[in-house]
Order: sequence, then structure tokens, then C-alpha cells
Amino acid sequence: MSAMLRIDPIPAFEDNYIWLLRQADGEGCAVVDPGDEEPVIRHLEQHGLKLEAVLVTHKHGDHVGGIAGLKARWPGARVFGPAHEAVRHLDRRLGEGDRLELANLELRFQVMEVPGHTEGHIAYHGHGLLFCGDTLFACGCGRVFSGTFEQLSDSLRRIAALPPQTAIYCAHEYTLDNIGFAKWVEPDNPALLRREAEERKKRAEGRPTLPSTLSLELDTNPFLRTAEPAVVAAARRWAGKPLDGHREVFRALRLWKDREYD
Ligand code: ZN
Ligand code: FE
Repeated sequence: MSAMLRIDPIPAFEDNYIWLLRQADGEGCAVVDPGDEEPVIRHLEQHGLKLEAVLVTHKHGDHVGGIAGLKARWPGARVFGPAHEAVRHLDRRLGEGDRLELANLELRFQVMEVPGHTEGHIAYHGHGLLFCGDTLFACGCGRVFSGTFEQLSDSLRRIAALPPQTAIYCAHEYTLDNIGFAKWVEPDNPALLRREAEERKKRAEGRPTLPSTLSLELDTNPFLRTAEPAVVAAARRWAGKPLDGHREVFRALRLWKDREYD
């Protein structure tokens, strides 16, 4: 991470975070997934900041709803988003392997296509940070809406292979809820029980549980633990049949959570 890079959450709706990126000494900034322009405009005006870039991960309204209003307020801001989804107001469409360089903000990201939640979802990786929208959540993952279970399973495998110290910036505060399901899957995972105590404390103090780290997710997130014997056994018990490989275990976990937990 660049020494002076500063990242703050701007809360929106019930449980969204719009991530704000800037160099601590500059007035330029970027936001990720602005579902609503109001809280962003208020925050930037309060802090004397100028919007230069908008990064979008996928097409859902709670991630794109603020783009038009932000463009109206800061017409010079450039909007980046997924090449393979219908998102309006994009200045540049990004796909697998594309590089996004925001020279004024000293930011460089590599784009990963991580379909599954939606068919064209992308993530931004750089500076040891991952902005992954609704693909990977803290202790959970997105639902399968317009992508497929196989896609989401494969996308999570790719994220799992990033450096373990990668900071995970997802778009929703779902952590405590997700931990409840993770305990159905692995009631005896000591790292998960430790995490629950820590995350509860943060929420009780009104702090976000994010960012997370990939290493913490690898230790506690059942959707990244689809080769772990205890996770495989729990998924098989629920499915009532043998499951073979990451994709089948992932699918069973996701269906189990959709049908019985959420
Ligand atoms: Zn979404
Ligand atoms: Fe969302």
C-alpha cells in the first residue's frame, strides 16, 4: 500500500459501504460502488474533496444508483466498470487483466473477472487491496443471481490464491450474520469462534468489521474452505449425498444457506 493512501467507508442504505480512496495530502479521490450519491456528496463536501474516479464492480442498483448524480456534481469524474454488464454512464469498460491507472491518485489496479453473483462481476486488485463488491464477503459470499454456482465457486478459488495478507474490501456489512451460518458449518472451528468475539466487539462499538484479510477468510469463511474435511463433511450431511470437489461442496453450502439460514 502506498504510504499515504487512506481508505474510508461511507455508509449507505442499511448495510452498504461505499469505499472512499485518496492520498491523505490530496483533495482528489475515488469511490467504489456508489449505490447512492447523497452520502458521497455530503462526505466529500464536508472534507473538501473532489471526485476524480468511480470504480464499479457490478450492475446492481445498490452499487450503481449514485453514478449519474455524482457525474452531475463532478462532471470531470471518470467512471470505470465491468465490460460484460449493462451499466450506464461508464467511460471505460474493464475486463480480465486490464490495468486501471489513476495517476493523480497514485493508484494502480489490476482487474479480475469474478463472475457468479452476477455474470460480469469484476474486482479491483492492487496495493495489497481487493475491492470485490458482492463476490466475497467477510465470512460469507454473495448469492448467485445472474451468474452460476460454478462461476462463483471458481471466482472464489481465484481470490483465495491471492497473497494471504491482501485486505478485503467488500460492499456490505454482513459479517455477524455470516458468522452465524459459518458456525452451522464449523461449530468447532476455534478461529471462527475467536473471530466472532472480535467482530461483535467492533459492532458494539459502532465500527465496521471491514476490511478483512484474506488469511482471516481462509481460516474462517466456509465458502473458501471447500476442501477442509470438516466443511466437506457438513456439506455432505446437509446434501445427503457424496460431494466431489470445490464446486459441488460450494454449491451445497450456498444452497444450504439460501434455503435454511437467510
Ligand atoms: Zn449485488
Ligand atoms: Fe450489493
